[in-house]
Amino acid sequence: MSTAVRGGQQAPSGREAREAREGAETVERAVGAVDLHGITKRYGSATAVDDLDLFIPAGKFISLLGPSGCGKTTTLRMIAGFEQADAGTIEISGDPVDHLPPHKRPVNTVFQAYALFPHMDVAENVSYGLRQAKVPRAEIGPRVSDALDMVQMADFAHRKPGQLSGGQQQRVALARALVNRPSVLLLDEPMSALDRKLREEMQIELKLLQNRLGITFVFVTHDQEEALTMSDRIAVLNEGRLEQIGTPDEVYDHPSSAFVAGFIGRQNAFTGLVEAASGSEVGVRVPHGLVLARATVPASAKAGDRVVASVRPERVRLCAAGDDPSGGEGAAENGVTGSVAGVSHLGHALQLVVRTDDGAELLVRVDRSAGAPTELGAPVLCRWDADDTHAFVVVGTADGSTSTDGSTSTDSPAGTDAGATPSRRTP
Ligand code: ATP
Repeated sequence: MSTAVRGGQQAPSGREAREAREGAETVERAVGAVDLHGITKRYGSATAVDDLDLFIPAGKFISLLGPSGCGKTTTLRMIAGFEQADAGTIEISGDPVDHLPPHKRPVNTVFQAYALFPHMDVAENVSYGLRQAKVPRAEIGPRVSDALDMVQMADFAHRKPGQLSGGQQQRVALARALVNRPSVLLLDEPMSALDRKLREEMQIELKLLQNRLGITFVFVTHDQEEALTMSDRIAVLNEGRLEQIGTPDEVYDHPSSAFVAGFIGRQNAFTGLVEAASGSEVGVRVPHGLVLARATVPASAKAGDRVVASVRPERVRLCAAGDDPSGGEGAAENGVTGSVAGVSHLGHALQLVVRTDDGAELLVRVDRSAGAPTELGAPVLCRWDADDTHAFVVVGTADGSTSTDGSTSTDSPAGTDAGATPSRRTP
């Protein structure tokens, strides 16, 4: 038998514990792994990054996502060595790098502004760093060709940046960063200057490139769609702290806080008091009825707690008010009646705003082929499942403020398309 039972719990044997420890060490020391321990960065009295612990496994595409000013760029710049942390340590491939200047770290950065030298052609731009580092001349040519091949820019080697499109300049900036063969590529909102279509094309290209190269990409963005499209893991930051790290599915379907629920994707938020709690399910009394939701660990809710229950627009089902399959009882639990107040087309889906009978607004996304009632004013019933509804305990409820665990609001953070909820602000 390979495990020993102690105190009712199965403890790993000495060999298993050692193997687990060695396994963890191997993961932490893998080339390209980035490990931040207790990183804090202050500017005067303002804390940009606050005791941040973040482990980025080797070879993954990770996005640092969060609203403006949450500390994404500062974190990236500390990994690059352009900023020094006030506290904490950073390891890359298992080695501390805190004492190393940027050019001695096994990383390279692609900045928002490509900062190409206008008087140099593409090949000269890409080879610049190698020439500065006195790499033997015979090595430079093949490495530049390789890097330009990677980004499909070999045919443009002798053009000047001014003769390239924005997307092509972006690729040259990428080649210039990759030519040094970094273990980790840091990208600071590199596509913000591109138009939407080009940006979407580059997202796919960048992800394919990362797959092909297998090096770690750390990508800063405030665009949740971009992060969801490209990332293996998303680290959601808020006010210099890590709110959640997980796969796109994890952060989208199982947000760990109201902040994450609001920032990633859109949501409908209902605020009310917990009427009953059983296991992980809570019943929340809201103005229009009862909402059954999953309580989010670790904030397991109990009766009397004030919570925000959130449900995604695409998880809401819509039918004509008279077609209620439950025979009219549908709105009592996880349901609300109202009328269609707006319809917009999202390509394959329709997004509807439903004004509920008590004056709130609900956002609903349905497949175009679903045959949902879409006439303005049509009476409708919206229903959803408890499993798709997440309840977050509201902290400090005395004044009725909407501060939730780790969050300041359930509304959309300014400047993003994320988290917009048309529902009424919490009473
Ligand atoms: P954005 O998406 O707008 O680029 P961000 O999440 O990257 O934002 P940071 O640039 O890391 O945010 O900034 C975090 C906080 O630190 C902000 O409040 C910012 O004003 C502050 N900050 C950043 N750099 C400096 C600096 N050099 N001096 C003073 N404050 C700074």
